This record gives sequence, C-alpha cells and structure tokens, in this order.
Amino acid sequence: MSNAVLSIQTIQALSQPTQRLLFGAVQFSENEEYQAFRYKLLVLLMVTGALFTALFIAGNATEVNPIRGLHSWSMVIFTSGALLLWLWLRGHPERFWKAAWTYEGLCLLEYTSALVFVPFDELRILWFYVNVPGVFILLGQRAGWFITGGTAVGLVVGNAWLEAPYSSNAVATAVLSLIYMGVVFHAYVDRSLSYFMRMRAYNRKLHELATRDPLTGVMNARAYYAACDQQIRLGQRHGRPFSVLFVDLDHFKRINDTLGHAAGDEVLRTVAQTLRQSVRGSDLLGRIGGEEFSVFLPETDLNGATQLAEGLRSAVEACRPMVGNEGIQITASIGVATSRAPTATLQAIQERADAAMYRAKQAGRNRVSVLE
Ligand code: GH3
Ligand code: MG
Ligand code: MG
Repeated sequence: MSNAVLSIQTIQALSQPTQRLLFGAVQFSENEEYQAFRYKLLVLLMVTGALFTALFIAGNATEVNPIRGLHSWSMVIFTSGALLLWLWLRGHPERFWKAAWTYEGLCLLEYTSALVFVPFDELRILWFYVNVPGVFILLGQRAGWFITGGTAVGLVVGNAWLEAPYSSNAVATAVLSLIYMGVVFHAYVDRSLSYFMRMRAYNRKLHELATRDPLTGVMNARAYYAACDQQIRLGQRHGRPFSVLFVDLDHFKRINDTLGHAAGDEVLRTVAQTLRQSVRGSDLLGRIGGEEFSVFLPETDLNGATQLAEGLRSAVEACRPMVGNEGIQITASIGVATSRAPTATLQAIQERADAAMYRAKQAGRNRVSVLE
C-alpha cells in the first residue's frame, strides 16, 4: 500500500480491456460502490507496488542502484508475492480482506527490511508514511491505527538496534508526523464512509419513490412493466410459459361516490395487500391503473393461472376493507391470458388479459374469464 491514493475517475478512465486485464471479470451492484472502489484500488496498489520494486531489483542487478544482498531478497519476495496475490484476487472480490491483509503484511516486511538492511538510504523511513493512507482506506480506521501506532512504537523501540540509528529529533518528528497522518486519514475515511452511506440511503429512497405506488406500496406501472419484460426474456430463453392476470374492481366508482374518496383509497390499500398475500413470492404485482392491478406469473400455464385467478377473486370477495366500523363488500373481475408463442410480447398478452377481463364484466362481474 505504498502509493498515493488513486482517484476513482482515474480507474474509470482505463479502457475496458485494461480493466478486464487488471481486475478480472468482476461485477458490483450499485450498492457496492465503496467495495468496488476498494477492490480496484487494492489491485492497482499491488500491481504498481510490484512494478516499483521490480524497478529496484533491476537497478540492483544492473548496478545502477546497488542494494545490499539481504534486502534484494526481500524485494524479490515482495514482487513475486504481490504478483501472486494479484492473480489470486483478480476476479474474486470476495477474497478482498485476505488479500488486503496479506499485502499489507508483505509491505511491512519490505519496509522493515529496507529500514534494517539499507542503512545508507536515510529516506527509507518514508515508505512507512506512504503506507498510512492505503491502510486507512482499504482496511479501515481500526486497522489504520493498529498499524500506524505499531509502526510508531516499532520505530521508537527499534531505532537503537539499527546500524545507523536516527537522531532522537528525527525519531520524534517521525512519530509525531505518523500520528498526524493517522488523524487526517481517520477523518477522511470517516467522511467518505458517511458520505457513501448517505448516498446509498438516498438512492434507495429514490428507487423506492420511482418504483412504488405511494398509495398501495405495490409496484407502479412503469416498474411493473420493466420487471415483466425482464421475466419474459428469461422465460423465453428457457422456453417457459408465463401468464398475466388483469384485476379490475367492480363498481369501484360507486364506493367513491357513496363513501368518499378516502374510503376508496382504503379499499385500494386493502385489496393490494390481499393480492400481495395471495400471490407467490416469484409473481409480480403492479397497480397499473386507478383500480386496476396486474399480476405476472412466470412459469405458469393457463391452468395454473386460472386457478390462481380464482383464488385471488375469492380473496378479494372475502377481504372486506374496513371503512369506519364497517367492513364493506367488494368484488373484482379478472382476465387471464397466457403466452401462446415463445415470441409473445407483454403488450399482446396484456391486451388479451384486458379483453378477457371485459368479458368477465359483461358476464356479470365477480368472476374469472379466460381468453382462449
Ligand atoms: P366497473 O365494474 O365497470 O369496473 O366499474 P368501475 O366503477 O370500477 O369503473 P370505472 O373505471 O368507471 O371507475 C374507476 C374509478 O376508480 C374511477 C376513479 O374515480 C376511481 N379511482 C381511480 N384512481 C383512484 C384512486 O387512487 N383513489 C380512489 N379513491 N379512487 C380512484
Ligand atoms: Mg377500471
Ligand atoms: Mg372497475
């Protein structure tokens, strides 16, 4: 974790093939933006860390920048370890924590080795500083303090054993500036995490507002049709049938006219709840009009759909929404349609369910009708 922090924009600016090479075939959901950032940052730090050390190894081999024997071995361990870790982590974000801690261990080994075995490089202590941001950002604040504090104590205690110890002034500067960096990055991580959490909460709220019908809590028409489209594509790929139920309340206008709009709203809420409780978890339920609901039934043929429609019809008949102290009687007419061809579109099938529902109305309401 030896490099300066790379911004997410830098990462996103990389071309697709480069991203695939570096990060593997990884996919993060919208809720995992912070995890995605950390995963990619860790990969970049590993690769650049390995490259930097490889440069030192090359400098040593060519005598351009000679380094003592023992430390050149620790650089070989670091470079090969970082590359192996990268290959192990690539495409496996679930290995993040193990990889991040192991990489941090490798880094500390490398910096300590430089501290002990390269006494003529008085600036080698800087590696402990560039380590701090990465630890706070990738491993969190507790780990950040654990490693930063451990480094400070290690410097104070170990200095006397170094071949060329730092002066007590230099050690005091080193320790205080390490702690100062810890404070800054503690605050930075605090801020960016709380920002991320709030963004996530806002996004959830926005998603909720954009996809839910505020009165009944079921999906609104747009979200419902989008979800249906997805299910249809899935069903068609696997050659499965699917069905649609169109539920329209009977004489709903009368409820509004006689008991008031608020009573009508209460009826809609109760009906939506009843429908929700009567369908399976895999079925989709949406309010697609004022007093019209639609149910999408994946992997369901006409027979199964008709049975479920009959169940919904009797559940609505029995639900008796409370208006004041009185439970009022309501009924619904339900049209059923099933995909006949593997290429059936939602619009075509919805129109047939609609036509079937009108037939149920004409036949006297409170019934299920199927369009063959
Ligand atoms: P039918 O049996 O033929 O379906 O008769 P209906 O009265 O149910 O049919 P119609 O489509 O004429 O009436 C639907 C009514 O639903 C009209 C409208 O005022 C009412 N409505 C639509 N949206 C809402 C809503 O959000 N709340 C309330 N309370 N009423 C609504
Ligand atoms: Mg209607
Ligand atoms: Mg109606």
